[in-house]
Amino acid sequence: MFSVHGLQVVGGIAIGRARVVKAGFTEIARYHVEAGDRAFEVSRLQRALESVRGEIEQLARHLPADAPSEARALLEVHELMLEDPMLVAAAERRVLDEFINAEWALALQADELASQFGQLDDAYLQERASDVLQVADRVLKVLSGSAEARPDTSLADTIVVAADLSPADLLNYRDAAGFAVGMGGVVSHTAILARSLNKPAVIGLGESLRLVRGHDWVVLDGEAGVLLVGPDESVLEGYRARRVALHEANERLRVLIKVPSRTRDGVRIELHANIDLPAEAQEARHLGADGIGLFRSEFLFLNRVELPGEDEQFEAYREAITAMKGRPVTIRTLDIGADKALPARMTSLVAPNPALGQRAIRFCLAEPAIFLTQLRAMLRASRFGNLRILIPMLAHVHEVTQTRALLERAMEQLRERGEAFDAAVPLGGMVEVPAAALAAPWFARQLDFLSIGTNDLAQYTLAIDRGDQSVAALFDPLHPAVLRLIALTLRAGRRYGKPVAVCGEMAGVPEYLGLLLGLGLRQFSMHPANLLRVKEALLAIEMDRTVPVARAALAGMGGTADFSGIFGSAPI
Ligand code: PEP
Ligand code: MG
Repeated sequence: MFSVHGLQVVGGIAIGRARVVKAGFTEIARYHVEAGDRAFEVSRLQRALESVRGEIEQLARHLPADAPSEARALLEVHELMLEDPMLVAAAERRVLDEFINAEWALALQADELASQFGQLDDAYLQERASDVLQVADRVLKVLSGSAEARPDTSLADTIVVAADLSPADLLNYRDAAGFAVGMGGVVSHTAILARSLNKPAVIGLGESLRLVRGHDWVVLDGEAGVLLVGPDESVLEGYRARRVALHEANERLRVLIKVPSRTRDGVRIELHANIDLPAEAQEARHLGADGIGLFRSEFLFLNRVELPGEDEQFEAYREAITAMKGRPVTIRTLDIGADKALPARMTSLVAPNPALGQRAIRFCLAEPAIFLTQLRAMLRASRFGNLRILIPMLAHVHEVTQTRALLERAMEQLRERGEAFDAAVPLGGMVEVPAAALAAPWFARQLDFLSIGTNDLAQYTLAIDRGDQSVAALFDPLHPAVLRLIALTLRAGRRYGKPVAVCGEMAGVPEYLGLLLGLGLRQFSMHPANLLRVKEALLAIEMDRTVPVARAALAGMGGTADFSGIFGSAPI
C-alpha cells in the first residue's frame, strides 16, 4: 500500500478500482511518406479532426440542463482549437513539407505549440498548453484507431486516475466515483469543473500517479487530498465506515436547513456563504445561508484572454444577487495579485514580493479604469437585491477615502447614462493586515461593516506564506497574536455599532465556533459545504460557556496576560 498527496478540490471519500486514463502522446506511429501519399495523410488528419469535432458536439448536446456554464465554455475552447491554424494548418504543412505521417506531424506541432504556451509568463496561456495537448491527444487516438467511446460500463465504483484530464474527458467520466489527477492547480479548468460535479477529487498528485495500475484498488480521500493505492482489507474497512458515516452525517444535517441558526440559549447567529462563482449562490440559498458573506469577484478575472467587461460583470453580480432573493450579497472588489495574478500582458507589474506588493485594493486604486468598470457593474446590479461592497486588504484609511471617491464617480457616470442603482449601497472593508486590525476603530468609523479575512490576517501577522508547503505547519490562526487582532476588530465594531464578520477559512471550522463566539463574533461566512456542520455545532453551544474559552485562548501566550482592559467586559 502507498499513498500519494495532492491538492484537495472536492471533499468526500471514494473507494473503487482505478481506471487509468491515458493522456499525452503515447506510442504514436512515426514514419515517412512518399510524395504521392501526402495528400492522403492530410485527408486522414482532416477526417480525424472532423470525428473529434463530432464527439465534442455530441458531448455538448448531451450536457445535462444543470451542467455548469463553464462546461459548455470549455468544450467551445476545445472546438476552437480544432480549427486553430497554429495547430491544424501547421500540422498539414509539416506533412507536406517534411514528408511525415499525420500522427507524427500533429504530435510535433502540438508539442511545439504547447511548449510555446508553457513558456509564456501568463497563467491563462500556460493553461492553454494542456488544452492543446488534450485536443491533439484526442485526434491522435482517432488516427490510431484507439479512440475510447464514451464509457458505457458502470463507472459507479471507478476512480479515474489520469496524469492530466481534459475537461471534456472529465465530462466523459462524470459518472465515476472520483477523480485523481496528476497535473493542474486549484483554479485550472479541470478543478473548476470537478468542483461543479461535486465528486471527490484530488489534483496535483504529480508523477507518482504513474505507479497506479488499472484495476488497482484505491481510496480517494477528498477530505485529506490523498490517494491510497492498494489498501489492505482493514484500511478499506476503515474507509468504508468513514464513507458511510460522512454520508449519513451529510444527510442528517439536511434537516437543519430550515432550522434558525441560534445557540442553545437562543442567541441568533448569522451564517453566510463564501462563493467564487455566481452560480454557487443558488446552492448557498438552498442550504439556508443567511446571505453571501464573500463573493470573491477575482475568479471572474482569472483564466481570461481579456478582462471581463462591465456588462459581463453586471450579469454575474446580478445572478448572485437575484439568487439570494433579498438576502445580503457581499461582493468583494477585485482581490488580484500574489497567488491570483493577472496575466503579465494585462498589467505592467513586476513585483519582487507580490504578497506585499500591489495586491487587491492597491492594484484597483492604481488602475482606476479597471476599478471603475467593476464598481459600475456592481452598482447596476445593486437594484436587483441587497448588495454590499467589500474592499480587500486595507491598511490605510485613505484607501477607503479614495474608494469612496471612485464609487461616487461611478455613480455619477451611471447617472449621466440614466442607469438606476442603489445609492445607499453599504461599503465595508476587510481586516486582513495587522495594521487594519490595530487601527480597527478608524476603519469602523469610516465604513459600514467589517469582515475579517483570517487567512491573510494569519499570513501577515505570523509572516507565513499561506501557499508555501514548507511553512504550512506554522500557519496557525489560533496563535494568540491573531486572536488578539480579531478581538480588537470585534471590539471596534461594537464600539461604533458596525457589524463585523469573519470570512476566512476559520469561520467554517466547527471546532473554532465556541472560541469565535466568545470573542464576540456574531456573523460567520464560510464555504457552503461547511454551513450545516457549523450550524449543528452552533445549536449545541451555550453562549455563557464561550467567553472563558476565548479568554483562555487569548492568554495562550504562556502568561497570565490580562486583556480585560483592552477588550472590556463580556463578550471579550
Ligand atoms: C482571507 O484572507 O481570509 C479571505 C477570506 O480572503 P482570501 O482567502 O480570498 O484571500
Ligand atoms: Mg484575503
